[in-house]
Amino acid sequence: NELPVSNFIRHIIDTDLASGKRSTVQTRFPPEPNGYLHIGHAKAITVNFGLAQDYQGLCNLRMDDTNPEKEEDEYVQAIQDDVRWLGFDWSGETRFASDYFQQLYDYAEELIRTGKAFVCDLTPEEMRQYRGNFEVPGRESPYRARPVDDNLDLFRRMKAGEFADGSKTLRLKIDMQSPNLNMRDPVIYRIKRAEHHRTGNDWCIYPMYDYTHCISDAIEGITHSLCTLEFEDHRPLYDWVLDNISIGNHPQQIEFSRLETLYVVTSKRKLKQLVDEQLVDGWDDPRMPTISGMRRRGYSPEGVRLFAQRAGVSKTPNVVDFSSLEGAVRETLEEASPRVMAVLDPIKVTLTNFDPATTGSRSAPFHPHHEEFGERLVPIARELYIERDDFAEVPPPKWQRLTPGGEVRLRYSYVIKCDEVVKDADGKVVELKCSIDPDTLGQNPVGRKVKGVIHWVSAEHAVEAEVRLYDRLFTEARPDAVRGDDGQYVDFKQFINADSLKVVTGYVEACVSDAAPETRYQFERLGYFVTDRHDHKAGGKPVFNRTVTLRDSWAK
Ligand code: ATP
Ligand code: MG
Ligand code: MG
Repeated sequence: NELPVSNFIRHIIDTDLASGKRSTVQTRFPPEPNGYLHIGHAKAITVNFGLAQDYQGLCNLRMDDTNPEKEEDEYVQAIQDDVRWLGFDWSGETRFASDYFQQLYDYAEELIRTGKAFVCDLTPEEMRQYRGNFEVPGRESPYRARPVDDNLDLFRRMKAGEFADGSKTLRLKIDMQSPNLNMRDPVIYRIKRAEHHRTGNDWCIYPMYDYTHCISDAIEGITHSLCTLEFEDHRPLYDWVLDNISIGNHPQQIEFSRLETLYVVTSKRKLKQLVDEQLVDGWDDPRMPTISGMRRRGYSPEGVRLFAQRAGVSKTPNVVDFSSLEGAVRETLEEASPRVMAVLDPIKVTLTNFDPATTGSRSAPFHPHHEEFGERLVPIARELYIERDDFAEVPPPKWQRLTPGGEVRLRYSYVIKCDEVVKDADGKVVELKCSIDPDTLGQNPVGRKVKGVIHWVSAEHAVEAEVRLYDRLFTEARPDAVRGDDGQYVDFKQFINADSLKVVTGYVEACVSDAAPETRYQFERLGYFVTDRHDHKAGGKPVFNRTVTLRDSWAK
């Protein structure tokens, strides 16, 4: 891994530690369990857990679960799996904002008693009108002056279920004239009869995000509460709440820019649409920018972390092309993946002078730099497969692969010469008849140079595999930011790439058959591939997903 690069958040932490304002670093990653985590979250995870590690501090995992209708245990489980897969572990148990419902409620009563919160009967529509906007100052609710005792009584009856959903709210008394709309007497509790994934029907009032988040941070002893820039103008509210209740700790909220990756969408709501409308094969479809999708695609956690580190931490827009994620993944796979040969678009080659008594097979290392990966026999036989595009009847200039009358080396084996091209009735090449030069096993031919080396497999020894070739999921760089003639956003799902998945039958060296699911290989000259997490079974027909090609195919 690369050395941590200094950034403005580290600078703040260093200053706080030096001045004695803080003696430890405690961060948290606070997802809402309303969907699976995506590449943007991978960055937030790397930042929060990474900082805690670097400063010998702790990082909590907290489910921000205050919207009961959208949150589910399935998502809680998936989030935990994804954080662990990325290589991080949180301090203690997983936390839930819902664990703090009683404390949040008690602080709300405290705010009522100190005259800083009131029960409001305005309808949502009236509330919007009273609130004003950037040009129009807000007006105070007619219920703002309610006596403390009435507020306390009404709030308790809200909790007891005496009022209809949406008929009353609890609001802070801050400033209806504030230029910051978040400070115009924000709602901190609403009535909603909805079953919560953890507290069931215990509550019919639920706290709002802004109120919940700062108190949850303070309860957990968070020192630096890192979030994305859209929360910048929520910070005054974060601070106001903590300054106005009797809680000891006051974490510092620090905002950094969101990671935006091109050619994908990263919003759980939009990703959920793709899943619900079955436009992809679930949240972990290998084309999805979810952490579980990247995992199934074969991306390494090291590669995803490296990418997140390189994306950096700042307040300037953080737009990154997908190819830099693929580049980071490729870098981490290069030294870590055993190499085998596979042919994905075969032409049959018949070795006319093959003689089982004299034609030898060689053993080859799984990795040129890693003896510890071991070796396997690469068996040769009379019939082979080579890649269709390693043969050209009419070769372009500088062609170093096979051509009629030409020679090429079979990787780890002999030099062969193409003597005859066999075609079917439509003129398609179906077979090449070739001859081996028997003196070229492990040594150069005498008197001539053969530069080209191609991969191949023995037809009789190789195993058939299902191989899934993926391309980008969208044809537009910003699929959710395209406007039509009417100026409205066009549905991003229109831009799904119809060719984003191609399934082929390939032939792979037999040694892969025993591989467990999620085993990564480099198929020589083709790219990195992984056995599918769900559909591949050791001993059965292998199922591979292409993780990434060897060279950047996005730059085309
Ligand atoms: P989405 O809109 O995709 O649902 P969110 O911000 O609502 O994203 P949360 O579950 O609330 O999702 O996010 C948890 C944490 O991850 C937050 O601190 C959030 O700021 C951070 N995060 C989410 N998306 C990104 C991103 N694209 N880049 C960096 N951090 C992100
Ligand atoms: Mg959120
Ligand atoms: Mg969201």
